[in-house]
Amino acid sequence: MIDFDTFPRMVISHGPTPLEAMPRLSQALGCNLFIKRDDCTGLAGGGNKTRKLEYLLAAARDAGADTLITIGGLQSNHARQTAAAAAKFGFACELVLEDVEGTPKQDYYNNGNILLDKLFGATIHAVAEGVDSVAFADQLMARLIDAGKKPYLIPVGGSNEVGSLGYVRCANEILAQIVEQGITVDQIVLASGSAGTQAGLLAGLIAAGADIPVLGIAVSRDTQAQQALVQALLEKTLQHMGLDPALANGRVIADGGYYGAGYGITTPATIEAVKMSAEQEGVLLDPVYTGKGMAGLIDKCRTGAFSAKQNVLFLHTGGSQGLFAYREVLS
Ligand SMILES: *Cc1c(COP(=O)(O)O)cnc(C)c1O
Repeated sequence: MIDFDTFPRMVISHGPTPLEAMPRLSQALGCNLFIKRDDCTGLAGGGNKTRKLEYLLAAARDAGADTLITIGGLQSNHARQTAAAAAKFGFACELVLEDVEGTPKQDYYNNGNILLDKLFGATIHAVAEGVDSVAFADQLMARLIDAGKKPYLIPVGGSNEVGSLGYVRCANEILAQIVEQGITVDQIVLASGSAGTQAGLLAGLIAAGADIPVLGIAVSRDTQAQQALVQALLEKTLQHMGLDPALANGRVIADGGYYGAGYGITTPATIEAVKMSAEQEGVLLDPVYTGKGMAGLIDKCRTGAFSAKQNVLFLHTGGSQGLFAYREVLS
């Protein structure tokens, strides 16, 4: 096990988050399903970004920063959680949020995550779809420095080798819960976007000597592109932890078969997955990430890729605050 005391961390999360069975959904699908409730990490409604922000905020603090800048879509959960963490620790927060083509528009600009960003006192820079938001953030950074501020730039999704440490920690948490509960897990499934969650989880499992496969259902990329993104970050994370990056080889599995027309655009299977989880388990998923991840899991149960003999753990990465931006496709 990795000694975590060597990595500066600000404690934000409520943990450990529950790891539970999903008996009714299991019965409906003929699979053995469990869920890791990282929608309950406790910051601003929870979600996977809480764990990454624990390490990223420590890095910002250690760099002497007074302002956090980050980037995402207009309904970014990462932006919402960054805004809340900034408020909690007294940083100013500047969000560069890009419009997303093809998303429903009745509530996209004012409800869901963006409503919450404003409540947390963040300054929002809304940029049109297709604008280079990374370049925009770099310019904003330069302007803030000129004005005497000390900005710290958190990458899209909090996904770099520092943020990924949050999921190294989560891997250890899951492994301890499996032992405590006397269960085995044969497969982990999650929604994979900017890749920090999958890369961190894999790095943690590798470091602990656990060989549970982790399937990342891509939310915006084809299989090869998603695998390449996770692989690169996994190697960097292992290196950051003082481990051999070659340990990443053969461990990254992604599936680009479920993202539909693109990031933020729901598919009929996404909507079905959101409704099924709500009706069978009282669990709220989201239309952008976990709905697609669960759609992939449901399909793999139905087609027999996952059998009733396997225990499958779905990592719930949060996002239900985004449901309110998608009223017209859900109601
Ligand atoms: C950001 C996010 C993800 C994807 O995590 P990555 O680390 O970016 O791959 C999954 N689910 C939700 C709800 C998210 O907000």
